[in-house]
Amino acid sequence: MSSDISSVSSPAQAASTHADTQLVHAGREPSRFSGMVNTPVFRGSTIIADNLEDWEASRQVDNPMANYGRFGTPTTRSFEQAITTLEGGHNALVFPSGLSACTHSLMAFVKSGDHVLMTDSVYGPTRTFADHVLRRMGIEVEFFDPLIGGEIRTLMRPNTRVVFVESPGSWTFEVQDIPAIAEEAHKAGAFVLLDNTWATPLYFKPFEHGVDVSIHAATKYIVGHSDALLGVASANERSWPILKQGAHDFGQTAGPDDIYLALRGMRSMAVRLRQHWESGIQLAEYLRTQPLVESVLHPALPSDPGYRLWSRDFLGASGLFTIELKPVGRAALCKFFDSLQLFGIGLSWGGFESLALPLDKPPTRVASATTYQNPLIRVHVGLENIDDLISDMGQAFEKMGQAL
Ligand SMILES: *Cc1c(COP(=O)(O)O)cnc(C)c1O
Repeated sequence: MSSDISSVSSPAQAASTHADTQLVHAGREPSRFSGMVNTPVFRGSTIIADNLEDWEASRQVDNPMANYGRFGTPTTRSFEQAITTLEGGHNALVFPSGLSACTHSLMAFVKSGDHVLMTDSVYGPTRTFADHVLRRMGIEVEFFDPLIGGEIRTLMRPNTRVVFVESPGSWTFEVQDIPAIAEEAHKAGAFVLLDNTWATPLYFKPFEHGVDVSIHAATKYIVGHSDALLGVASANERSWPILKQGAHDFGQTAGPDDIYLALRGMRSMAVRLRQHWESGIQLAEYLRTQPLVESVLHPALPSDPGYRLWSRDFLGASGLFTIELKPVGRAALCKFFDSLQLFGIGLSWGGFESLALPLDKPPTRVASATTYQNPLIRVHVGLENIDDLISDMGQAFEKMGQAL
């Protein structure tokens, strides 16, 4: 095995441009691991050198390989390289969860006195982090309407350091005009950080749309099997040193078994996502016809307000969307959830199994034109047969109707 693992990548990767092919080959180099198809799970803290010269060489800042387990192992680099290839960034870093990828990416860029603009439809715990931790550290946080587009120019200040976007938004699925926002952010000297979890590295190419750092809860579709927590952030060239330094300063790392599961999950992500996408559209269209459904928030439906931007900027849709019910009472809601057979009630999403999650109170919004007062249910469409999923939802709605 070569001691330089900087470029764990397959020759096939260079020859291919299709994402499906990249998914299969990126980050793999069997010849370096006794021919093993998969990069093995490397466990380790200490990495010993043969002689003083090698040791000193390993400590050079431009050494792409670590000289200590916290900075990465061949397993780590394999995953980071694969994500870099898929997203088209400069380099990537793993984090122990999606949330830690969001919070530490933010922390890498900001200092006391800075101003951060954050989408009002951001993932709840990222919002909480901004409200609690960033504010406590003397950073001004301002939420903006996810539909603001180029008008974000009016919010930019000399000390605006980061514009944090997420598209489509958590729970409410507004699609943001990322290129327009990025253009204004860059004019003002700010960095654009994107939570790209919904679209995955397959369906939104962040760096083609002006994003500086793209963040994923790999926990979701990348792992894909609800059996690990992991985050990853990839950066363009100018942001990479800042992201990397920040993560290293905080001692960020992730366990090799979870990274291995992410690599394994990723290999089949293209076929899984096509099914999540197709079944998601079918179920969403079906739910639109339900009398107790007020609206379906799914940007890949032609009737959705986000459809125009989604079809302009995205290459596909995943299986997560929200339904807004008519104002039904709690008894009817209980009946609905208790009647579901195939949909689990649970947090997270992106696994092979279907989920339905009630939102217990209206999502926190301080800057959005649209707010929701009716019950919201977030649906993750899994890989079950779509006819079974539709009939399960159908019978649950029927029971809910009887309980009104
Ligand atoms: C789940 C999620 C996260 C956090 O991921 P964890 O791995 O659960 O920490 C971040 N952003 C979005 C959009 C998510 O859905």
